[in-house]
Amino acid sequence: MSDEHDVPPKARPSAQATPAKPRPRPQDPIEQEFWRLCQDGQLYFQRCGSCGIFRHLPRYMCARCGSPDYSWEPSSGKGTLFSWTVTHQALHPAFAADVPFVAAVVELEEGVRMATRLVDCERDRLALDLPVELDFEMIGGDFRLPVFRPREG
Ligand SMILES: [Zn+2]
Repeated sequence: MSDEHDVPPKARPSAQATPAKPRPRPQDPIEQEFWRLCQDGQLYFQRCGSCGIFRHLPRYMCARCGSPDYSWEPSSGKGTLFSWTVTHQALHPAFAADVPFVAAVVELEEGVRMATRLVDCERDRLALDLPVELDFEMIGGDFRLPVFRPREG
């Protein structure tokens, strides 16, 4: 049985290969449905079947009226930058090539906010209420992760 400690550090596989970015691994069926819908290249949010408000993160009851009734409705994919921070240190080696990157909270036209990444945005453009639009980053070649980019026009 080989022992990793017998191998010089630069020869270890972990020092040479960039690991894949981690994917969301939702345990709850309602969260699994959110991510499954993203794989169609469209962002969906739950909409209350009683009072009509959109909600995110996925959950079983409406926070406004308590109704368990909902449907999945497509988002316009348009929103504005609600908050952000520029990350300069990769806390996971799969993100080393991406730093610095913008971790953001986007407010969608449907009224929900979601944590995401802002891509293709020069730092001098970062501003509250910057118009943004949905895009998808492919993770591992077959998983769509929703991200946002500045909206032109
Ligand atoms: Zn409701």
